[in-house]
Amino acid sequence: MERTFIAIKPDGVQRGLISEIVSRFERKGFKLVGIKIIVPPKDFAQRHYHDLKDRPFFNGLCNFLSSGPVLAMVWEGEGVIRYGRKLIGATDPQNSEPGTIRADLAVVVGRNIIHGSDGPETAKDEIKLWFKPEELV
Ligand code: ATP
Ligand code: MG
Repeated sequence: MERTFIAIKPDGVQRGLISEIVSRFERKGFKLVGIKIIVPPKDFAQRHYHDLKDRPFFNGLCNFLSSGPVLAMVWEGEGVIRYGRKLIGATDPQNSEPGTIRADLAVVVGRNIIHGSDGPETAKDEIKLWFKPEELV
């Protein structure tokens, strides 16, 4: 069954949005198969966002991801990669559709509270980066 990697970033955890966000995925009907809270080291954040290494915001983004606890999760279900991105909404909360997580709960792109894998290949790579096989049910 299809799986995706979803993370609540330090701003979402700090603001107390874990249950709100997890409940949206649960109510949709997706299945939680892995979850843990960690403070990712900077080099780990750089590996996670390696595709963006040439962007001007890369350093700030990696500093931010490693600045506090992140809730790392793997969700499973039919179409979960694409539909998870729909639940999350566009990257910039100013452009995300009302009803999405980023539109409803965030204001600026640098504090958009949640990450979701953007395709089957990244989902596979990110799940492998963040979780050991035995951490998934
Ligand atoms: P994520 O990978 O976190 O799920 P995304 O796939 O919607 O987000 P990406 O293009 O992968 O968007 O960007 C990764 C993250 O980098 C964004 O979530 C955002 O926090 C940050 N980011 C993207 N564009 C900008 C920008 N112009 N200025 C500052 N931060 C940005
Ligand atoms: Mg992305």
